[in-house]
Amino acid sequence: MDGRYARQERFGPWGQAGQERLRRAKAVVVGIGGLGGTAAMLLARAGLGGLRLVDPDYPAWDNLHRQVLFNEQDVLSERSKVEAATTYLRSLNRAVAVEPRQEALQPDNALELLAGCDVVLDGLDSAAARQLLNEACLKLGIPLVHAGVTQAQGQLLVVLPGQGPCLRCWFPRLSDPPQGWSAGGVIGPAATCLASLQATEALKLLVGAQEQVLRGLLAVELWPLRFRLLDSPGNQAGGCPACRGEYDLLPVG
Ligand SMILES: [Zn+2]
Repeated sequence: MDGRYARQERFGPWGQAGQERLRRAKAVVVGIGGLGGTAAMLLARAGLGGLRLVDPDYPAWDNLHRQVLFNEQDVLSERSKVEAATTYLRSLNRAVAVEPRQEALQPDNALELLAGCDVVLDGLDSAAARQLLNEACLKLGIPLVHAGVTQAQGQLLVVLPGQGPCLRCWFPRLSDPPQGWSAGGVIGPAATCLASLQATEALKLLVGAQEQVLRGLLAVELWPLRFRLLDSPGNQAGGCPACRGEYDLLPVG
């Protein structure tokens, strides 16, 4: 009988060598809602060695249409998201070392929360937290796979520190809508679509296929369906302050 990873190992660019790299790799998912939770599930099923989950929240009824890690019992039992997710992900693949961290990403814990990981996945929902995550990844030299989703659209960006534009290069004035991201709603398939693309980019990095990673910003609309690839953020050819090592959000030192 084939092993549990046989079908993905048979995919040429992945292979057994990629699987072995994946087994020794560790990712951190910051925010395990519709985006990060789905991406974490795909990484656990794929056989990632270690998975750190960062989220301060508890599952809620209005999460369940898109957040695949949680069920009705998780809402009723008032378990934290990271606790419920850890139970579920361990039931999917006991070989994955899941590390729950029930914390919000803050300037004083950002570096510690990301340290030791090979890739960072952005499952956040605030502009300020995302810029902090971007800075921390640049400082630590860890690739960041950013995704965002709202309504029926989203975006995808891979930040390779020192090798191209970062999140701030693309969005120097990134801000949240006045009514918050939830005001316009979001449909479940949009979140899982972007999360699937996000997990794919992370897996390319983790199996050693960095040359295949997305270059540019992918803008996805699902309603109606349209994908657009933007090549360059334009006037940030020399990099933004964060790319030059000037961090506004992280503590000095
Ligand atoms: Zn930058």
